[in-house]
Amino acid sequence: MEAAGTQGSAPVLILYAGGTIGMRESERGLVPADDFAARLERAMSSIPPARQARLPRYTLWESSAPIDSSSATPADWSRLAEHIAAVHEQYAGFIVLHGTDTLAWCACSLAFQLQGLGKPVIVTGSQKPLEADDSDALGNIETALAFSATPGLSEVCVGFGGRLLRGTRARKWYTHDAIGFESPNWPPLGEMVEHVAVLYPSRCHQDRGAPRFELIPPQARSPIVRVPLWPGMQGEALERLIDDDAVTGVLLECWGSGNLPEDPTIIGVLAQASASGKTLVALSQCPVGGVRLGTYASGAHLVDLGVLAADDMTVEAAGSKLTHLKALSLSTDELRRRFLTPLAGESGAFTR
Ligand code: ASP
Repeated sequence: MEAAGTQGSAPVLILYAGGTIGMRESERGLVPADDFAARLERAMSSIPPARQARLPRYTLWESSAPIDSSSATPADWSRLAEHIAAVHEQYAGFIVLHGTDTLAWCACSLAFQLQGLGKPVIVTGSQKPLEADDSDALGNIETALAFSATPGLSEVCVGFGGRLLRGTRARKWYTHDAIGFESPNWPPLGEMVEHVAVLYPSRCHQDRGAPRFELIPPQARSPIVRVPLWPGMQGEALERLIDDDAVTGVLLECWGSGNLPEDPTIIGVLAQASASGKTLVALSQCPVGGVRLGTYASGAHLVDLGVLAADDMTVEAAGSKLTHLKALSLSTDELRRRFLTPLAGESGAFTR
C-alpha cells in the first residue's frame, strides 16, 4: 500500500472528450457542452486548499466537438491514443474525461494502443453533470488527479466512485449509482481513503520499458458483431447476423463456461463462418469467471471449430481487443496468437 497523489514536476494532461460530466440540460435532455476549462476551474476552486495541494498540476485539452459516448467509435479511441502518444514525454500522466456508457471500451482500446507507456492513464466521467446537485463529477476528477501522477502506476485505469480499477477489467455496472463501475474478475488497484489516493501495487500491471505503441488507424472501424445466445435461438437468425463479408469477427456470448445449443444448424453456420476466415471468439454471459471450452460436450463443438476462448475477459476487453487486432491487419495465425496472449492485463485469474 503506498500513499499516492503527490505533486510531480511534470503536469498531468486532462483530455475532455465529452460525456455526462460536461453536459448541460437542453429541451431534449442532456447534451454535450463546451467551455469546460472555465467550468473545471470553478469546480476545482471548491476543493479545500489542503486537498488541492496534494494534487498534481494539470493542463486541459478540450475536444472542439465533445460527444455523448454512446456515439463513440474506434476512430474516437484512435484520436485519443494518437494525442497521448504524440505528447507522452511531456506529461507525468493522463486523464481522459469520457461518457460512462462506452468508457470501459475506450479504456480497453487505450490500453491496447498505448502498451509500454509507463505512465498512468486514468479514464473517468460521472453519472451527473459537473454542475448538478449532488454531482459525482468533481469527486471523480479528484480521484483521477490523485492517481494520475502516481509512481508505480503504469497502466490504463478507470477512476470512478472513489476506486481505481484496471481499465481492461472494468465494466459499467450501474446505470445511476455513483459507484458506476465494477471489475468482476480483478480486485481494485487502489482507492481513495479520506481523500488520499492509496495504491495496491501488487495488483498492478507492471508495464514498463520502452513504449510499444500499437496505434490503430484513424479510419479504423469495428468489423465485429456480438451475438448473445438465447434459448430457442435459430440457426437462420445467427446466419443473418454473421454471414456478411463486412463482418470478420464474431463475439459469441455463450452460456456459463462456454456452452452453446447442440443444434446442427447453429453449429453448421459457425463452421461455415470459421471456414470462410472469420475469427470466432467465445465468452461467457456470466459476469464473473471465464470460459473453459470443452467442460461440457455442448461446448466441445467450439473447440472443434477453432473458436478462440476469451478466458475471463469482459466483453468490452474481448470486443475492443478483437477490433484492435483486426485494425492492425495481422496474419490469421498472428491474430489468433495475440488474442490468446494477455496484452494489457485483460485476462488471467487473480491469484495473489
Ligand atoms: N450517455 C452518456 C455518455 O456516455 C452517459 C454518461 O456519460 O454517463 O456520454
